[in-house]
Formats: sequence, structure tokens, C-alpha cells
Amino acid sequence: MYAAGVSGPFFDWMCMVYAHMVYATKYGNEHCLPFRSLIGLLTGDSASPTLWNIFFADFRLHEHPDDVQLHGHAVSQAEQADNNIIMSTFFAVFQAKVTAFFEWCKKKCVFISARKSKWMIFGPLPPLIPTLRLGDLIVELMSKLKYVGIWLTSTTPNIFSLNYSIKASKARNASNAAFAMKHRIRSLPIKEGLMLYMVRIDCYLISGGDIAIDVDAGLVSELMEAQHLFLHRLLGIHSRSMLAVLFTETGLMPIRTRCLLLTLGRLRYMTSLGDESTVRAALLDSVNLFATGFSGWAGDVAILLSTLPMPICMAPADFLSVPTIDAIIAKVLEVVDANLQFDIDHLQKTHLLRNHLETVEDKLELVTRRRRHYLTMVLVPAHRKALTGLLLGDHTLSVEQLRCPVRYRRAIPREERLCRFCHDAVEDEVHALLDCDSHVQLVELRDSFLTDAFDCDPVLEAVYALLSHYDFLRRLISSRKAVSRFAKYTYDVLNIYDRYQPLIPEGLGIP
Ligand SMILES: [Zn+2]
Repeated sequence: MYAAGVSGPFFDWMCMVYAHMVYATKYGNEHCLPFRSLIGLLTGDSASPTLWNIFFADFRLHEHPDDVQLHGHAVSQAEQADNNIIMSTFFAVFQAKVTAFFEWCKKKCVFISARKSKWMIFGPLPPLIPTLRLGDLIVELMSKLKYVGIWLTSTTPNIFSLNYSIKASKARNASNAAFAMKHRIRSLPIKEGLMLYMVRIDCYLISGGDIAIDVDAGLVSELMEAQHLFLHRLLGIHSRSMLAVLFTETGLMPIRTRCLLLTLGRLRYMTSLGDESTVRAALLDSVNLFATGFSGWAGDVAILLSTLPMPICMAPADFLSVPTIDAIIAKVLEVVDANLQFDIDHLQKTHLLRNHLETVEDKLELVTRRRRHYLTMVLVPAHRKALTGLLLGDHTLSVEQLRCPVRYRRAIPREERLCRFCHDAVEDEVHALLDCDSHVQLVELRDSFLTDAFDCDPVLEAVYALLSHYDFLRRLISSRKAVSRFAKYTYDVLNIYDRYQPLIPEGLGIP
């Protein structure tokens, strides 16, 4: 640039700034170590928005009665660094504003690309579609466009519909990429898998989630499916397994609730802004629409809260009260956890997960969502998946396999799902692991396991004779010291059962 004649004090100052610049990122109260960017263009690094804002500060379009009004504020322009929007409710005014922008840029020696500029019509189309010009060049009319990472469409009832499908598709692709490592690492460990989920998949699923409110079940289902797909694969359980366990066992939040919480966090921020802020004007405008019975962002938030398993009512005035918003955030967390816990407590297949106490500040408490110990303490993937399947009701023992009808067999009542070896008791988890003595190898495995388990955790030996086999099984699951050995034993026992066909009672097959 020096060779091209670019020089001067400002240029030198810029060189000095960029030569000494270091970066750091912050998330919550955590900061990363400082780092330097060895490549960085004015338009592409983190300093440029501020420099651009200084440069752009004197660009102001004249107000007009046909401008978009937000709570009495005329809004006809918005800028995110060098991504600019100009808007109007009347085309002639819109064209005049675009021309004014073109003239301003000419004066400031800024080139605007007509080819890269686009325009959209929201609402009913006029009988004759006008032509927008930037100088002498025609600007293309679009029905869908991405602005600051958010896809907008003007031809669908929900202007964010494309955003949902594109983000869900990207999340699925990222998910496939994460599991594509399988042929090199064989199985993705849970801890690392959840980290990958948060950095590579969650970011797509929450993108725009605080702006596009999930009131359209058809759209948000794409995001939910992408989340469920990843977690089912990570845990190694069937894609038709129940959904609550995906969250109770990993500590993650269902994506719809996560976006709702982000929305309420955004609302909290907007409420704290001063009256001069356009964002606050937009909030007040949206709340007014809600109060007068019209649809909008605030109305959608209220609708979403009212569709929770235990509906939460949010009145227009609540949108402007920080303590009320905080109370609603706490209530949402409470409602979602209660709903997940309800599933765990009332579905038969999750009986081993009930009353699972966790340590919270040196006390044992019922924690609905947490990454459970067995997911990270069992290092052998096959053993971990066997134990996970056992706990989540996703295993091959008859008590689960014969529960539902299949093509050539009716559903079998629980009391008739008998053990394929002894034909004497229901083939459930306790029977297979601790009761059945009709298979020699099974008994040998159990003896060997109990010896090892008592060595790992002597407390187990002390309670073995005192507890019922069911309660002892629960103690085995909760024992951090013996959980790896127990997972291996579960894997071995299920393998033995898998070698034989389940016992189908006579008369329950469909001829
Ligand atoms: Zn048996």
C-alpha cells in the first residue's frame, strides 16, 4: 500500500494498532489467553466494526412520514458494521433513501456493489413490481436473503422459516462430521461428545433463537430432531428411545426451552436499555402490539410460555419488569425439569433412574439433569453402551423386547415375559443380573463379578445380604468405585441372553 502511495499519520497509526493488537474472548466470567491474529483485514477483524462505525457515523437518512415507526421512532436504516439495511413502507420513499445512500457513498469515496445489494418486499405485493435502482444499475429483488447470519423470507407465513431449515441442516452436517471420526476413534467419548455438541451443533440450533420465537411446531421440530439425533447417537441408544433421558442423563436442555431461556435473557437485556435505544423502542412497540391483540415478538413469547407443560402467563407489563422476567426464567427451569422428572418417575422403562441422588454442595439431592457418572467413568464404549441401555430401558431382555407388538407377535403382558432360561420369572434387569441361576455361564459370571465388585467397593459386600436384589442393583449403579466393573458384567450378561431367542408364550404370535 505504501508503494501505491497510501501513507500519512492515520495510516501509520493504523499500522501501529494492528501490529500491537492482541485478542481475547470472553464467555460468562471466563477469558481465554490472549492471542494475536497474524492475518486480518480491515473488514474482517474485530477492530473494524468500531473503525467502520466512526467512518459511518454521519450517515443519516432524512425522516419521512412513510418510515417504519417503532414506538414513535422513525426507523429507516440499520447497520451492522458494513451490512446496511434501508427500509420504508412506500416504494418511492424507499428509492429516494437508496439514492441518498448512493450519493453519500459517492461523496465519501465508498463503492457500493449493486450486484451484491438486494431488496425485498414484505407483505402483499403491489400490482406492478417496481424496479429499484442504485445509481444507474438495477438491484435484484429477492424472496429470501441472509442478513447478519439470519435468513429472512418474504413469501412464507413465518419470515424465519428458511432460517430453521438451514440451521437444522448445518447442525445435522456438523453432527455427521463429528460421528464420521468413528472409523478412527471407534466411539466418541461422552464428555468430548458433549463438548463437540456445544461448540459445533448447539451454535446452529440456537442461532437466531432469541429472535425467531418457536411458536411454529413444524419448524422447530427440525431443530429438535437434529438435537435428538446427535444425543441418541452419542449415548448409543435407539433413535426411538424415550426423549427425556437424553436430557436427564447428559444435563443438556431441550432445544426449545434453551431458545426460550435465551429469548428471556435477551428480553432482560432489552428492558434495561435506555429510551434512546432503537432496540428498546422495538420492544415497547412489540409489547404494545401484544397488549392490543396483535401478533409480534412479545405475543409469540407469551404464547410459547403458555404452551409449556405447566403454562406460565406473561402479561404485557411483565415484559418491562426485570424481577418478573427473572422469576419467569426460574419458573421455566422449574417447569422443564419437573416435566422431565415426571417422565422418569412414571414410565416403566426408566425405573432404575428414579430417586437418583447426586451430590450438591456436600449434600445428596435429586438432580433432574446432570451428566451422570456412568457416562464418563466407564471407559470401554461397549460396556458403557450396555449399561446405558440397561438404565434407559433400551436393551434386549424380554421385559422390554416383548413390551410392544411387532409384525408377527402381539404385545405380551409383563407377567408373561418370562426368562428364556428358567421360564420361571419375568426376564427383567434384576432377574438377569442377580437372580437367574439356570445358565451355568451366567452363574459363573455373577460369582466372578461379585468378588470383583466387593473388592472395588467393600460397602457393597456389607449391604449385599441386607438389601433386596433390586435395591442392591441400584446400589451397584450408584457406586462410583464399581461402576466400570458393573458395566462390563452387564455387557457380558446381555451377550449371553442375546445368544438365545426370547420365550414367546403360546398363543400370542400372530399366525
Ligand atoms: Zn431366569
